[in-house]
Formats: sequence, structure tokens, C-alpha cells
Amino acid sequence: MIYLDHHATTPLDPAVLEAMMPFLTDRFGNASSRQHAYGWAAEEAVEAAREQVARLIGARDRLGAPCGKEIVFTSGATESINLALKGLVETERLHAPIPRLHLVSTRVEHAATRDVLDALMRQGCDVTWLEVDAFGRISPSDLEAALRPETLAVSILHASNEIGTIQPIAEIGAICRARGVVLHVDAAQSAGKIPLDVEAMHVDLLSLSAHKLYGPKGVGALYVRRRAPRVRLEPQLHGGGHERGVRSGTLNVPGIVGLGKACELAESLRAAEAERVSGLRDRLQERLFAAIEGIHLNGHPTDRLPGNLHVSLEGVESQALLMGLKEVAASSGSACASDRLEPSHVLAATGRDTALASLRLGLGRGTTEAEVDRAAQIIIQEVERQRSTPCRIPLASPRA
Ligand SMILES: *Cc1c(COP(=O)(O)O)cnc(C)c1O
Repeated sequence: MIYLDHHATTPLDPAVLEAMMPFLTDRFGNASSRQHAYGWAAEEAVEAAREQVARLIGARDRLGAPCGKEIVFTSGATESINLALKGLVETERLHAPIPRLHLVSTRVEHAATRDVLDALMRQGCDVTWLEVDAFGRISPSDLEAALRPETLAVSILHASNEIGTIQPIAEIGAICRARGVVLHVDAAQSAGKIPLDVEAMHVDLLSLSAHKLYGPKGVGALYVRRRAPRVRLEPQLHGGGHERGVRSGTLNVPGIVGLGKACELAESLRAAEAERVSGLRDRLQERLFAAIEGIHLNGHPTDRLPGNLHVSLEGVESQALLMGLKEVAASSGSACASDRLEPSHVLAATGRDTALASLRLGLGRGTTEAEVDRAAQIIIQEVERQRSTPCRIPLASPRA
């Protein structure tokens, strides 16, 4: 089996497992136990992980050192996004003399952000959903025009989990900072894959997830800016006051250690891996486009995740194609929405005909050249086989 679904999840890096093992066995202490060495060992490991996460995203203190205090550990990006947006709105409702309850987001968000914003809308918030261009990008001038005096925050996906398109976060951040609007970035796909710097990009809140960067499932982090400006969040989980009172619950020490190690590895491998993986991705793209008619690239041709290749295909059907690709693990779109079997809201937002089959190929750290060549061959053969089967959907038009 060739695994080309790295947007859905990634395998645990062996070095990450190795770092976690002591905390799954001998060093099982509770990081909040202040009275003995078991607790101290766990706490020390958690604090080291906080710095590893801070370093990956450029969270720095006044002196330029990685600022672990700005990292809140959670159960994953979904929880981070919930805490960021609901926590921010609740703080505003409780403490602002005249609460600003307008939020701005985009048409291409992950289900986690969409659903949180829908819930906030039902509770009286107003949300503006920015349109995107044919590549899936918003325009910073549209964003600027959408801001109002009562705009509290902008929430935006850094890189699309479907089409891989990267949003111009630094430009967006500069606009938000100038207008006094909080910026939350969903970096679940981008963290560890492309450069990220919360200071240079003026990001105030940032969500990430360990299992998207070769760490374990069920752990993630939320970056919360502590100065210039300080961002305050009302807790969404109450209890023992862990994580500076923002997120109660006994810390998942092995998971957090794994997330930290995954961030450290991603940081050291990032540049070389981006080059290697995008090279393989381009090779796969060239092979498919040379051999298949009626194939269309989705997302931005250059400003996209190194491992992302997303195409639409005429004359085949998504589910039949994926079922036919028995040796290739790929998907038709988002893992979180693909069980709904609805047309992708992301493709629809880019203006792509969603009646066409879509195929998302996600390359990653383990992907080899031999796998890419084999996958190309399998996909080409399967598309040909399905198209030559009677009663298949006809090609929409000859390839231009
Ligand atoms: C995977 C993903 C999430 C959700 O992360 P979990 O840790 O699985 O909850 C959110 N946003 C994006 C863009 C993702 O790819």
C-alpha cells in the first residue's frame, strides 16, 4: 500500500515514539504533582515541549528566546480552534463595555472553524465569509474592506487541507494589527511544512495538531499572544486550573512530549523536506498530466503545500476511482468531511465544477520516488480502465 493521504494524518516518526516511551512507562508522573520527583520529571518534560512548539512557530519573549508561556496544550487543532474563538468571544462579552461581535473568516475553512463560527452565529455573532479566487486565495483588500469598528477577530486557514493553497498570512496580519483586530490562524496543515513566524506575521492565536506533523493523535497546541497585544481567553474547560487556568485537565504528558519532539524534528527537516517532497509532487503531477486527458489542477500552482496535489478528473466518479485504487491510500477531499459525501465547499468556492471526480494526493516524509512512480502508474491505469468501462460518464470536453 502506498500512503498518499498525509493531509488526513501522518505516521508517528520513530524518533517521536522513542521520546514518548519513557513517559508511557517509568516516568508516568502527573505534571501537576509538585511534591515528588515523578511530578517534577513530567513537568520538566512538558516545559521543554512548550519551548519546542514555541520555537517552531516563532513565539518569542522580549529577549528573543522561545516563549513557552504562550503555548497552551490541548487535545488537537479542533479543540484549539474552539478555545481560541469561543474563548475570545466570551472574554469580549464578559469584559468589553460594548462587545464587538463581528468575526471575519473565509469560504475555505476546515470544518472545525466553520462549525465553531456557525455555533457563534447562533449565539448572536455576525460572521463575514470572504470569497476566494480560482486558486482558493482570499484577497487582502477584500479582508480590509470587510473589517468594521465592531470586528473582534479574523480567523483564517493558513494552508488548505484540501487544495493546499497558502494564504498570504503576513499581509493579513499586518492589516489586522493596524486595525486592532485579533488574528487567529489555523496552522494544522502548515506547521512544520512551511515557514511560520507569529511575530513577523502578526499572528495573535494559532492552532496546530501533532498528528499532522508526525506526532501522536489527540494532542495539539494553541499559541496565545501574551504581549503587544495581550490576548485573553475565557476557559472552555473548567477544573483544576491547568495551563494557566485556560484549559483544565491533567496534562497528556506522553502526547505533549511527542508533540514537542515532532516540532523539533519538523523544524530541523523542514527546508530539505519541502524541497524533496515538492520535487516528488511535481514529478507525480507531470506524469499524471502527461498521460491523462481531462485532468485539472486544483489550488494554487505554486503557493501551495509542498506535499499537496489535488486534481479534478472528467469521465470518472470519485468514490469508484478511490475504491479502484486498491494499492494507493488517497482521498477525494477532507477526511473530516468526506464521510458526509457532500460536494467539497472548498472546490465550490474556487468555482470548480464539483460534479467532476476529485482526487487529493498528499505526499509526506515517508514518500519515495519509487512510490510516486508506482502510484502514477496505478492511477493512470485505473482512470483508463474506468473510462473504458461502458456506461461511464463521458469526457466533458477534449483537452485544450
Ligand atoms: C486536521 C485539521 C484540523 C483538526 O485537527 P485535529 O487535531 O484532528 O482536531 C483543523 N484544521 C485543519 C486545517 C486540519 O487539517
